[in-house]
Amino acid sequence: SPKPLVAGNWKMNGTTAALKEARLLAGMLEDVRLRCEVMICPPATLITSIKSVVKGAKIKLGGQDCHWYAHGAHTGDISSEMLKDAGCSAVIVGHSERRADHGETDETVRLKAEAAYRADLTAIICIGETLEERKAGRTLEVIARQLKGSLPMNAVPTNTVVAYEPVWAIGTGLTPTVEQVAEVHASIRAKTDPALRILYGGSVKPANAVELMSVANVNGALVGGASLKAADFIGIIKAYT
Ligand code: 13P
Repeated sequence: SPKPLVAGNWKMNGTTAALKEARLLAGMLEDVRLRCEVMICPPATLITSIKSVVKGAKIKLGGQDCHWYAHGAHTGDISSEMLKDAGCSAVIVGHSERRADHGETDETVRLKAEAAYRADLTAIICIGETLEERKAGRTLEVIARQLKGSLPMNAVPTNTVVAYEPVWAIGTGLTPTVEQVAEVHASIRAKTDPALRILYGGSVKPANAVELMSVANVNGALVGGASLKAADFIGIIKAYT
């Protein structure tokens, strides 16, 4: 099975004071033998400084979003080429917060994933059902639709990671049962390559990481809140020691 990835999505959190956490994490990683890759996706303002702070440590960097064009008159946007230039090797696209706050659709998410490939970045493509959709028994149908619409034709395990993030589990402390996680991940696996990494995201904490990461077809985690403090994030990463 593919080498797992544990990625921390800092979302709109972190000023230069947070560099301390990146430095702490780099130090903690020196002492552990890991079976996974580790990534931080900080706000764009911190990418360059975190890159210098974690130099030498096995920590990859990712963006949280990108535009689908390489450059131009798009005030406030950042391109995949810019993220690559700043030191990123990946970019999250289609996070449910982007879909909800910025009206992103499967189509724009697919364009962004294609932009990631163009800049030689791994696209971490997020999908996941809302609570309403789960209650209506539509989870697998929603996942299938998002996968079909958001994954480019040329998505392969070397350029793409899929993150299953049930919207109702994000930042709520609620998590699906292992059976629910297994069902969705199996449905994604059935439609994709055996080597594709499928991450679980949504209220992953040190206390539930081992259980969630042990589910079949879970190849790592996309972590929000618990990635902000090195002491918490390392507790999740250590599920892979
Ligand atoms: P939380 O870990 O804070 O629930 O966030 C998950 C997430 O959205 C990661 O992208």
